[in-house]
Amino acid sequence: MQNVLLAISGPSGVGKGTLVKLLMEEDENLALSVSCTTRAPREGEVDGREYFFISKQEFLSRISEDDFLEYDEHFGNYYGTPRSFVERRLKEKSVVLEIDVVGALNAKRLMPQTVLVMIVPPDMEELEDRLCGRGSESACERSERLRRVRYELAQQDKYDYVVVNDDLQTAKKRLQEIIQTERNKG
Ligand code: ADP
Ligand code: 5GP
Repeated sequence: MQNVLLAISGPSGVGKGTLVKLLMEEDENLALSVSCTTRAPREGEVDGREYFFISKQEFLSRISEDDFLEYDEHFGNYYGTPRSFVERRLKEKSVVLEIDVVGALNAKRLMPQTVLVMIVPPDMEELEDRLCGRGSESACERSERLRRVRYELAQQDKYDYVVVNDDLQTAKKRLQEIIQTERNKG
């Protein structure tokens, strides 16, 4: 069995965070890559758990030190995957990157073994409901995020797997099957 590097993408509000949390709880051989971001923490988010919350100045200095496997800018903030963390953890466990489509495709270019999984909503109405239900963005930020959804969903054919997050437990089981299949390839 091999350790796999899995990039899980999908539109904001589709349920990535919820699914990844369930996967982590049930599989001790899975580690979540904690990204760095320059955005402010949302209520309940803890530094070093959801993200490492760093200043723009520190982010730019780490870019110049080639410290990110990939990075991107979303909604005026930087987000990046720390290279050293991923390489170190992959020696012990399978690693999940929870990143956007552009970031995932960039990661695959640098680490071709990356398995790309896209989570998609059952329909657009449900996605909008979930995003509004989370209540962490203003109406303006939400509409910006929804505009991006169509672009992200259009990248599905570049992905190794597409998982519909309709029923949460069914989507979680499908992700567990995918991880098992990829581990067995080694
Ligand atoms: P993301 O990380 O993709 O932005 P979240 O995991 O924060 O999305 O989920 C957005 C909202 O949708 C949350 O309130 C979450 O509880 C809810 N949610 C996630 N998956 C489902 C599902 N299968 N059915 C109904 N609600 C869901
Ligand atoms: P949020 O602010 O909702 O946590 O995340 C906003 C967007 O940033 C999401 O699409 C999320 O997938 C993306 N993101 C989170 N971490 C990273 C990362 O390390 N790299 C890239 N490229 N995108 C990220």
